[in-house]
Formats: sequence, structure tokens, C-alpha cells
Amino acid sequence: MTDKEKIDRFIQKCREHHLSVTPQRLAVYREIMDDHSHPNPETIYKRVKEQFPTISFATVYKTLETFEKYGIISIVTTIHNTVRYDPITEPHHHAICVRCKKVIDIFDDQLNHLTVPEAVTKGGNQYLGYSVQFNIICADCLAKEKNQ
Ligand SMILES: [Zn+2]
Ligand SMILES: [Zn+2]
Repeated sequence: MTDKEKIDRFIQKCREHHLSVTPQRLAVYREIMDDHSHPNPETIYKRVKEQFPTISFATVYKTLETFEKYGIISIVTTIHNTVRYDPITEPHHHAICVRCKKVIDIFDDQLNHLTVPEAVTKGGNQYLGYSVQFNIICADCLAKEKNQ
């Protein structure tokens, strides 16, 4: 998808949910749409602030929450007490480095078709979806450890 297509889709999704496309919202979206490092809110805030020096962290945080609520971006399972956002909203999985917390996207059709255990919905729980998390020590961290 080109940047223009991503932005068109963003604007369309905002309209669907009666969200006005403000310059701030667009700036927040632009900062995440091509970022596949699964950035945390602080990182996105720092980048948006370069264009909007008066924007507050709370505004950026709230914007990300709103985007997530309406399926414009998705959230990676809370990792080590920090939220990480993802521009990809289609089902996919992650390999996460236990050392540096790097998050790598994993696309695997087989993983998209796991049987959901009955225990998940037992007692009336509402099932929303799943994402498989592979724990790794990434090659960069391994190389660093070897050099120590
Ligand atoms: Zn690592
Ligand atoms: Zn992802």
C-alpha cells in the first residue's frame, strides 16, 4: 500500500466513526503508519512534537487510544508494562526479544487458524481474538553478549 492509500484509508475510517481528521490526528497517524518497530506512545509523542511543539503527551496518548478503539491501529499485547502500537490491524503474530524488547511481525497462515480452547470462553467470557507471541533473544542481542 502506498502512503497515499494508507492516508486515504485512514481518512475513510475516521469518517466511518465520525472522527474529524484534524492536523494533529493526521500527524499521529503518519508517525505510526510506516513504523513496524511497534513504537510506544513516548516515541510517537517525541516525533509528533517536532511538528506540533505545543501538543501534549496526553493528547497523543488519547489519540492512540482512540485509533485503537476504532481499529485504525492495533495494540501489541502489553509487553513489560508498556503499551506498544502497531499500524497493522490484520491478524498477525510477534516474536519479541526478551532483552531489548524488539518486536518483529510474524505472518503465518497456519497460526491464523488455531482452534480456540473452550476454556477461553468458559463462564461467559467474550472472545476477541488472539496473537501468538514467540519469545526470542534477537541476533543483535546475542552478538552483543558474545562480544562482552
Ligand atoms: Zn534484542
Ligand atoms: Zn505487529
